[in-house]
Amino acid sequence: MCSPTRSDPCWSSPRSASAPRSSPPPDSAFSVSDRSPRPPSGHDLSVVARLADRVAVMYGGRIVEQGLTANVLGDPRHPYTRALLDAVPAAHAKGTRLSADTASRPGPAPAPDGCPYATRCAAADDGCRKALPERDSQGALCWYPAQPVAVTLRVPQPARHDGAPGEVLVEADAISKRFRAPDATSYYAVREVSFRLRAGETLGVVGESGSGKTTVARIVLGLTEPDAGAVRFDGGPWSGIPERSRRAARHRIQAVQQDPLGSFDPRFTVERVIGEAVALTGPRRGRERRAAVTELLDRVGLPAALLDRRPLELSGGQRQRVAIARALAPSPDVIVCDEPVSALDVSVQAQILDLLDDLRRDTGVALLFISHDLGVVHHVSGRIVVMKDGRVVETGDVEEVFAHPAQEYTRELLAAVPGGALA
Ligand code: SF4
Repeated sequence: MCSPTRSDPCWSSPRSASAPRSSPPPDSAFSVSDRSPRPPSGHDLSVVARLADRVAVMYGGRIVEQGLTANVLGDPRHPYTRALLDAVPAAHAKGTRLSADTASRPGPAPAPDGCPYATRCAAADDGCRKALPERDSQGALCWYPAQPVAVTLRVPQPARHDGAPGEVLVEADAISKRFRAPDATSYYAVREVSFRLRAGETLGVVGESGSGKTTVARIVLGLTEPDAGAVRFDGGPWSGIPERSRRAARHRIQAVQQDPLGSFDPRFTVERVIGEAVALTGPRRGRERRAAVTELLDRVGLPAALLDRRPLELSGGQRQRVAIARALAPSPDVIVCDEPVSALDVSVQAQILDLLDDLRRDTGVALLFISHDLGVVHHVSGRIVVMKDGRVVETGDVEEVFAHPAQEYTRELLAAVPGGALA
Protein backbone atom coordinates (compact mmCIF):
# COMPACT_ATOMS: atom_id res chain seq x y z
CA MET A 1 0.00 0.00 0.00
CA CYS A 2 1.39 3.44 -0.80
CA SER A 3 1.84 6.08 1.89
CA PRO A 4 0.21 9.48 1.78
CA THR A 5 2.99 11.82 0.73
CA ARG A 6 3.07 14.76 -1.67
CA SER A 7 5.38 12.94 -4.04
CA ASP A 8 3.06 9.97 -4.21
CA PRO A 9 0.88 10.04 -7.33
CA CYS A 10 -1.99 9.16 -5.01
CA TRP A 11 -2.04 12.80 -4.03
CA SER A 12 -1.19 14.38 -7.37
CA SER A 13 -4.70 15.35 -8.53
CA PRO A 14 -4.98 19.15 -8.66
CA ARG A 15 -8.00 20.39 -6.74
CA SER A 16 -9.67 22.21 -9.62
CA ALA A 17 -9.09 19.61 -12.26
CA SER A 18 -9.78 16.35 -10.55
CA ALA A 19 -11.95 16.77 -7.53
CA PRO A 20 -14.82 14.48 -8.51
CA ARG A 21 -18.33 15.95 -8.46
CA SER A 22 -20.53 12.89 -8.43
CA SER A 23 -23.59 12.65 -6.21
CA PRO A 24 -22.82 11.44 -2.73
CA PRO A 25 -24.22 8.13 -1.60
CA PRO A 26 -26.72 8.60 1.21
CA ASP A 27 -25.00 8.73 4.59
CA SER A 28 -27.51 6.31 6.06
CA ALA A 29 -26.83 3.61 3.45
CA PHE A 30 -24.85 1.41 5.80
CA SER A 31 -26.07 -2.14 5.42
CA VAL A 32 -24.59 -5.45 6.49
CA SER A 33 -24.90 -9.06 5.48
CA ASP A 34 -28.09 -10.97 6.23
CA ARG A 35 -26.38 -12.59 9.20
CA SER A 36 -26.78 -9.44 11.27
CA PRO A 37 -29.97 -7.40 11.57
CA ARG A 38 -28.11 -4.28 12.72
CA PRO A 39 -25.09 -2.47 11.30
CA PRO A 40 -21.96 -3.30 13.26
CA SER A 41 -19.65 -0.52 14.34
CA GLY A 42 -16.18 -0.63 15.79
CA HIS A 43 -12.49 -0.26 15.18
CA ASP A 44 -11.69 -3.85 14.19
CA LEU A 45 -11.32 -3.74 10.42
CA SER A 46 -11.11 -7.49 10.07
CA VAL A 47 -14.51 -7.89 11.76
CA VAL A 48 -16.03 -5.14 9.61
CA ALA A 49 -14.53 -6.73 6.50
CA ARG A 50 -16.07 -10.05 7.42
CA LEU A 51 -19.55 -8.88 8.46
CA ALA A 52 -20.46 -5.72 6.59
CA ASP A 53 -21.59 -5.40 2.98
CA ARG A 54 -21.19 -1.66 3.17
CA VAL A 55 -18.98 0.40 5.39
CA ALA A 56 -18.80 4.01 6.59
CA VAL A 57 -15.44 5.31 7.80
CA MET A 58 -15.73 8.10 10.36
CA TYR A 59 -13.25 10.73 11.46
CA GLY A 60 -13.86 13.81 13.59
CA GLY A 61 -17.61 13.21 13.64
CA ARG A 62 -17.93 12.97 9.84
CA ILE A 63 -18.27 10.07 7.45
CA VAL A 64 -15.14 10.58 5.37
CA GLU A 65 -15.63 7.59 3.07
CA GLN A 66 -18.39 5.08 2.50
CA GLY A 67 -19.49 2.45 0.08
CA LEU A 68 -19.30 -1.24 -0.60
CA THR A 69 -16.91 -2.83 1.89
CA ALA A 70 -14.94 -4.52 -0.87
CA ASN A 71 -14.43 -1.15 -2.61
CA VAL A 72 -13.65 0.92 0.46
CA LEU A 73 -11.30 -1.58 2.11
CA GLY A 74 -9.94 -2.95 -1.16
CA ASP A 75 -9.40 0.38 -2.89
CA PRO A 76 -9.47 3.13 -0.25
CA ARG A 77 -9.60 6.71 -1.55
CA HIS A 78 -9.59 8.82 1.60
CA PRO A 79 -6.23 9.33 3.35
CA TYR A 80 -7.72 8.36 6.71
CA THR A 81 -9.09 5.08 5.36
CA ARG A 82 -5.69 4.41 3.80
CA ALA A 83 -3.93 5.23 7.09
CA LEU A 84 -6.25 2.87 8.97
CA LEU A 85 -5.56 0.04 6.54
CA ASP A 86 -1.88 0.81 6.53
CA ALA A 87 -1.83 0.39 10.32
CA VAL A 88 -3.18 -3.18 10.16
CA PRO A 89 -0.31 -5.51 11.11
CA ALA A 90 -1.35 -8.09 8.50
CA ALA A 91 -0.58 -5.54 5.77
CA HIS A 92 3.08 -5.24 6.84
CA ALA A 93 6.12 -7.41 6.71
CA LYS A 94 7.51 -8.29 10.12
CA GLY A 95 10.04 -5.85 11.46
CA THR A 96 8.53 -2.86 9.68
CA ARG A 97 6.91 0.01 11.54
CA LEU A 98 3.13 0.16 11.56
CA SER A 99 2.35 3.73 12.55
CA ALA A 100 2.66 6.75 10.27
CA ASP A 101 4.92 9.56 11.48
CA THR A 102 2.14 12.08 10.91
CA ALA A 103 0.09 10.51 13.70
CA SER A 104 2.16 12.27 16.34
CA ARG A 105 2.73 15.55 14.48
CA PRO A 106 -0.56 17.48 14.38
CA GLY A 107 -0.77 20.39 11.92
CA PRO A 108 -2.79 23.64 12.15
CA ALA A 109 -6.45 23.26 13.05
CA PRO A 110 -8.94 23.51 10.15
CA ALA A 111 -11.84 25.98 9.93
CA PRO A 112 -15.23 24.62 11.08
CA ASP A 113 -16.14 23.74 7.47
CA GLY A 114 -12.67 22.44 6.67
CA CYS A 115 -11.42 18.88 6.54
CA PRO A 116 -11.27 17.40 10.05
CA TYR A 117 -8.35 15.17 9.01
CA ALA A 118 -6.21 18.17 7.96
CA THR A 119 -4.34 18.16 11.30
CA ARG A 120 -2.90 14.72 10.50
CA CYS A 121 -2.93 14.53 6.73
CA ALA A 122 0.40 14.76 4.92
CA ALA A 123 -1.36 16.18 1.87
CA ALA A 124 -3.27 18.95 3.67
CA ASP A 125 -3.05 22.48 2.26
CA ASP A 126 -4.80 25.75 3.04
CA GLY A 127 -7.71 24.85 0.78
CA CYS A 128 -8.32 21.64 2.74
CA ARG A 129 -8.42 23.61 5.96
CA LYS A 130 -10.99 26.07 4.61
CA ALA A 131 -13.63 23.80 3.06
CA LEU A 132 -14.51 20.29 2.05
CA PRO A 133 -15.30 19.10 -1.50
CA GLU A 134 -18.29 17.01 -2.50
CA ARG A 135 -17.85 13.28 -2.21
CA ASP A 136 -16.20 11.43 -5.05
CA SER A 137 -17.74 8.45 -6.82
CA GLN A 138 -16.69 6.17 -3.93
CA GLY A 139 -18.08 8.47 -1.27
CA ALA A 140 -14.68 9.83 -0.19
CA LEU A 141 -14.76 13.33 1.28
CA CYS A 142 -11.37 14.59 0.11
CA TRP A 143 -9.90 17.13 -2.31
CA TYR A 144 -7.17 14.68 -3.26
CA PRO A 145 -8.66 11.21 -3.24
CA ALA A 146 -6.17 8.48 -4.01
CA GLN A 147 -5.98 6.90 -7.42
CA PRO A 148 -7.01 3.23 -7.43
CA VAL A 149 -4.46 0.98 -5.81
CA ALA A 150 -4.62 -2.65 -4.82
CA VAL A 151 -4.88 -3.11 -1.09
CA THR A 152 -5.47 -6.50 0.47
CA LEU A 153 -6.10 -7.39 4.06
CA ARG A 154 -4.13 -10.57 4.42
CA VAL A 155 -1.51 -12.21 6.52
CA PRO A 156 1.88 -11.58 4.92
CA GLN A 157 4.15 -14.32 3.75
CA PRO A 158 7.09 -15.29 5.93
CA ALA A 159 9.63 -12.54 6.42
CA ARG A 160 12.81 -12.09 8.38
CA HIS A 161 13.50 -13.04 11.97
CA ASP A 162 14.61 -10.55 14.52
CA GLY A 163 17.74 -11.40 16.41
CA ALA A 164 18.68 -14.46 18.40
CA PRO A 165 16.81 -14.82 21.68
CA GLY A 166 18.83 -15.06 24.88
CA GLU A 167 18.71 -17.31 27.90
CA VAL A 168 15.47 -18.86 29.14
CA LEU A 169 13.71 -16.51 31.57
CA VAL A 170 10.31 -18.15 32.04
CA GLU A 171 9.78 -21.87 31.77
CA ALA A 172 6.27 -23.29 32.07
CA ASP A 173 6.35 -27.04 32.50
CA ALA A 174 3.04 -28.90 32.00
CA ILE A 175 1.01 -26.37 34.01
CA SER A 176 -2.67 -27.11 34.63
CA LYS A 177 -5.39 -25.15 36.40
CA ARG A 178 -8.96 -26.13 37.18
CA PHE A 179 -11.77 -23.79 38.18
CA ARG A 180 -15.18 -24.46 39.65
CA ALA A 181 -18.15 -23.70 37.40
CA PRO A 182 -21.39 -22.14 38.77
CA ASP A 183 -23.06 -25.58 38.66
CA ALA A 184 -20.37 -26.90 41.07
CA THR A 185 -18.61 -28.96 38.41
CA SER A 186 -15.02 -28.15 37.63
CA TYR A 187 -13.26 -27.59 34.35
CA TYR A 188 -9.72 -27.20 33.10
CA ALA A 189 -8.91 -23.59 32.16
CA VAL A 190 -5.35 -24.68 31.35
CA ARG A 191 -4.15 -28.24 30.83
CA GLU A 192 -0.54 -29.38 30.59
CA VAL A 193 0.72 -26.20 28.97
CA SER A 194 4.46 -25.93 28.41
CA PHE A 195 6.57 -23.19 26.81
CA ARG A 196 9.77 -21.22 27.26
CA LEU A 197 10.23 -17.47 27.04
CA ARG A 198 13.76 -16.27 26.33
CA ALA A 199 15.35 -12.88 27.00
CA GLY A 200 14.75 -10.32 24.27
CA GLU A 201 12.11 -12.31 22.38
CA THR A 202 8.39 -11.90 21.87
CA LEU A 203 6.45 -15.12 22.37
CA GLY A 204 2.91 -14.83 21.01
CA VAL A 205 0.06 -16.73 22.65
CA VAL A 206 -2.99 -16.86 20.44
CA GLY A 207 -6.41 -18.45 20.74
CA GLU A 208 -10.09 -17.67 20.95
CA SER A 209 -11.87 -16.41 24.07
CA GLY A 210 -11.90 -19.14 26.71
CA SER A 211 -8.80 -20.86 25.35
CA GLY A 212 -6.90 -20.29 28.61
CA LYS A 213 -4.61 -17.44 27.53
CA THR A 214 -5.39 -15.13 30.44
CA THR A 215 -5.04 -17.93 32.99
CA VAL A 216 -1.58 -18.61 31.57
CA ALA A 217 -0.80 -14.89 31.94
CA ARG A 218 -1.91 -14.89 35.58
CA ILE A 219 0.13 -17.98 36.37
CA VAL A 220 3.25 -16.45 34.80
CA LEU A 221 2.64 -13.25 36.76
CA GLY A 222 2.43 -15.28 39.96
CA LEU A 223 -1.16 -14.19 40.57
CA THR A 224 -2.65 -17.69 40.19
CA GLU A 225 -1.08 -20.94 41.34
CA PRO A 226 -1.20 -23.89 38.94
CA ASP A 227 -2.78 -27.08 40.33
CA ALA A 228 -0.14 -29.16 38.58
CA GLY A 229 3.09 -28.50 36.76
CA ALA A 230 5.49 -25.67 37.58
CA VAL A 231 6.74 -22.28 36.45
CA ARG A 232 10.40 -21.35 36.80
CA PHE A 233 11.73 -17.82 36.48
CA ASP A 234 15.37 -17.10 35.76
CA GLY A 235 16.31 -20.62 36.80
CA GLY A 236 14.48 -20.61 40.15
CA PRO A 237 11.02 -21.73 41.26
CA TRP A 238 8.26 -19.19 40.60
CA SER A 239 5.14 -21.24 41.29
CA GLY A 240 4.52 -23.39 44.36
CA ILE A 241 6.42 -21.06 46.69
CA PRO A 242 5.17 -18.58 49.32
CA GLU A 243 4.57 -15.02 48.11
CA ARG A 244 7.32 -13.72 50.39
CA SER A 245 9.82 -15.82 48.42
CA ARG A 246 8.72 -14.17 45.17
CA ARG A 247 8.64 -10.65 46.51
CA ALA A 248 12.26 -9.72 45.85
CA ALA A 249 11.91 -10.59 42.15
CA ARG A 250 8.31 -9.47 41.59
CA HIS A 251 9.32 -6.22 39.91
CA ARG A 252 11.15 -8.24 37.23
CA ILE A 253 7.89 -9.46 35.69
CA GLN A 254 5.46 -6.68 34.82
CA ALA A 255 2.08 -6.57 33.10
CA VAL A 256 0.30 -4.46 30.49
CA GLN A 257 -3.38 -5.25 30.28
CA GLN A 258 -6.20 -4.60 27.85
CA ASP A 259 -7.88 -2.01 30.06
CA PRO A 260 -5.29 0.01 31.95
CA LEU A 261 -8.06 2.00 33.67
CA GLY A 262 -8.93 -1.10 35.66
CA SER A 263 -5.44 -1.17 37.15
CA PHE A 264 -5.07 2.57 37.78
CA ASP A 265 -6.42 4.28 40.87
CA PRO A 266 -8.58 6.96 39.22
CA ARG A 267 -7.67 9.45 41.96
CA PHE A 268 -3.95 9.21 41.20
CA THR A 269 -2.17 11.51 38.79
CA VAL A 270 0.03 10.11 36.02
CA GLU A 271 3.04 11.12 38.11
CA ARG A 272 1.85 9.05 41.05
CA VAL A 273 0.76 6.04 38.93
CA ILE A 274 4.22 5.77 37.36
CA GLY A 275 6.06 7.13 40.40
CA GLU A 276 4.92 4.25 42.62
CA ALA A 277 6.41 1.80 40.11
CA VAL A 278 9.63 3.87 39.93
CA ALA A 279 9.90 3.64 43.72
CA LEU A 280 10.08 -0.17 43.57
CA THR A 281 13.68 0.00 42.44
CA GLY A 282 14.53 3.71 42.12
CA PRO A 283 14.10 7.04 43.91
CA ARG A 284 11.13 6.96 46.26
CA ARG A 285 10.13 10.61 46.23
CA GLY A 286 11.03 14.18 45.37
CA ARG A 287 12.66 15.68 42.33
CA GLU A 288 14.61 12.55 41.44
CA ARG A 289 11.47 10.48 41.24
CA ARG A 290 9.69 13.14 39.19
CA ALA A 291 12.66 13.26 36.80
CA ALA A 292 12.53 9.47 36.43
CA VAL A 293 8.79 9.60 35.70
CA THR A 294 9.31 12.38 33.14
CA GLU A 295 12.03 10.33 31.45
CA LEU A 296 9.71 7.31 31.26
CA LEU A 297 6.95 9.45 29.78
CA ASP A 298 9.39 10.67 27.16
CA ARG A 299 10.40 7.09 26.41
CA VAL A 300 6.80 6.13 25.64
CA GLY A 301 6.18 9.28 23.58
CA LEU A 302 4.18 11.32 26.09
CA PRO A 303 4.84 14.95 27.12
CA ALA A 304 5.68 15.98 30.69
CA ALA A 305 2.56 18.15 30.55
CA LEU A 306 0.55 15.00 31.37
CA LEU A 307 2.23 14.52 34.76
CA ASP A 308 -0.65 16.11 36.67
CA ARG A 309 -3.46 14.52 34.65
CA ARG A 310 -5.62 11.71 35.96
CA PRO A 311 -6.29 8.52 33.97
CA LEU A 312 -9.84 9.53 33.03
CA GLU A 313 -8.48 12.72 31.42
CA LEU A 314 -6.35 10.71 28.96
CA SER A 315 -7.20 9.11 25.64
CA GLY A 316 -7.13 5.31 25.31
CA GLY A 317 -3.76 5.42 23.56
CA GLN A 318 -2.28 7.75 26.19
CA ARG A 319 -3.52 5.50 28.98
CA GLN A 320 -1.90 2.46 27.39
CA ARG A 321 1.37 4.40 27.02
CA VAL A 322 1.17 5.29 30.73
CA ALA A 323 0.59 1.59 31.50
CA ILE A 324 3.69 0.71 29.45
CA ALA A 325 5.73 3.41 31.21
CA ARG A 326 4.62 2.00 34.56
CA ALA A 327 5.57 -1.52 33.46
CA LEU A 328 9.00 -0.29 32.36
CA ALA A 329 9.67 1.70 35.53
CA PRO A 330 11.32 -1.11 37.55
CA SER A 331 13.42 -2.23 34.53
CA PRO A 332 11.72 -5.62 34.18
CA ASP A 333 13.08 -8.68 32.39
CA VAL A 334 9.61 -9.77 31.25
CA ILE A 335 6.40 -7.94 30.39
CA VAL A 336 3.21 -9.98 30.09
CA CYS A 337 1.02 -8.14 27.56
CA ASP A 338 -2.55 -9.45 27.82
CA GLU A 339 -4.55 -8.18 24.82
CA PRO A 340 -2.77 -4.81 25.12
CA VAL A 341 -4.15 -3.33 21.89
CA SER A 342 -7.54 -4.95 21.44
CA ALA A 343 -9.43 -1.98 22.93
CA LEU A 344 -7.65 0.56 20.71
CA ASP A 345 -8.51 1.75 17.25
CA VAL A 346 -6.23 0.47 14.55
CA SER A 347 -4.05 3.57 14.14
CA VAL A 348 -3.41 3.83 17.92
CA GLN A 349 -2.87 0.06 17.97
CA ALA A 350 -0.12 0.50 15.40
CA GLN A 351 1.63 3.13 17.53
CA ILE A 352 1.49 0.93 20.65
CA LEU A 353 2.80 -2.13 18.78
CA ASP A 354 5.67 -0.08 17.36
CA LEU A 355 6.42 1.28 20.83
CA LEU A 356 6.49 -2.20 22.42
CA ASP A 357 8.77 -3.49 19.69
CA ASP A 358 11.11 -0.48 20.02
CA LEU A 359 11.31 -1.00 23.77
CA ARG A 360 12.02 -4.70 23.37
CA ARG A 361 14.87 -3.93 20.99
CA ASP A 362 16.23 -1.11 23.17
CA THR A 363 16.01 -2.79 26.56
CA GLY A 364 16.09 -6.50 25.75
CA VAL A 365 12.90 -7.07 27.72
CA ALA A 366 11.06 -10.29 26.82
CA LEU A 367 7.38 -9.99 25.89
CA LEU A 368 4.76 -12.67 26.47
CA PHE A 369 2.23 -11.27 24.01
CA ILE A 370 -1.31 -12.59 24.37
CA SER A 371 -3.91 -11.81 21.73
CA HIS A 372 -6.83 -13.25 19.79
CA ASP A 373 -5.67 -11.30 16.70
CA LEU A 374 -3.49 -13.44 14.46
CA GLY A 375 -2.31 -10.50 12.39
CA VAL A 376 -1.05 -8.70 15.49
CA VAL A 377 0.60 -11.83 16.93
CA HIS A 378 2.26 -12.61 13.62
CA HIS A 379 3.66 -9.11 13.34
CA VAL A 380 5.17 -8.88 16.82
CA SER A 381 6.19 -12.47 17.63
CA GLY A 382 9.19 -14.61 16.79
CA ARG A 383 7.57 -17.76 18.15
CA ILE A 384 3.95 -18.60 18.76
CA VAL A 385 1.85 -20.81 21.01
CA VAL A 386 -1.64 -21.65 19.69
CA MET A 387 -4.15 -22.52 22.43
CA LYS A 388 -7.57 -24.15 22.30
CA ASP A 389 -9.73 -25.25 25.23
CA GLY A 390 -6.87 -24.80 27.66
CA ARG A 391 -4.34 -26.87 25.73
CA VAL A 392 -1.46 -25.96 23.45
CA VAL A 393 -2.40 -27.33 20.04
CA GLU A 394 0.59 -26.02 18.14
CA THR A 395 3.79 -24.14 18.86
CA GLY A 396 6.88 -23.09 16.95
CA ASP A 397 8.48 -20.42 14.82
CA VAL A 398 5.70 -18.01 13.87
CA GLU A 399 6.61 -18.02 10.18
CA GLU A 400 6.69 -21.79 10.06
CA VAL A 401 3.36 -22.14 11.88
CA PHE A 402 1.68 -19.57 9.63
CA ALA A 403 3.12 -21.02 6.45
CA HIS A 404 2.63 -24.69 7.33
CA PRO A 405 0.09 -25.08 10.14
CA ALA A 406 0.12 -28.65 11.35
CA GLN A 407 -3.20 -28.58 13.18
CA GLU A 408 -6.70 -28.17 11.78
CA TYR A 409 -7.54 -25.59 14.48
CA THR A 410 -4.61 -23.38 13.44
CA ARG A 411 -5.70 -23.69 9.82
CA GLU A 412 -9.22 -22.61 10.82
CA LEU A 413 -7.88 -19.59 12.71
CA LEU A 414 -5.73 -18.59 9.76
CA ALA A 415 -8.57 -19.14 7.30
CA ALA A 416 -10.71 -16.75 9.35
CA VAL A 417 -8.27 -13.91 8.65
CA PRO A 418 -9.90 -11.77 5.92
CA GLY A 419 -8.12 -12.01 2.62
CA GLY A 420 -7.16 -15.65 2.94
CA ALA A 421 -4.23 -16.23 5.22
CA LEU A 422 -2.72 -19.07 3.28
CA ALA A 423 -3.28 -17.84 -0.21
S1 SF4 B 1 -9.23 17.07 2.08
FE1 SF4 B 1 -8.50 16.33 4.05
S2 SF4 B 1 -7.94 14.23 3.72
FE2 SF4 B 1 -8.10 15.18 1.69
S3 SF4 B 1 -6.01 15.81 1.20
FE3 SF4 B 1 -7.05 17.55 2.18
S4 SF4 B 1 -6.55 17.33 4.36
FE4 SF4 B 1 -6.08 15.41 3.39
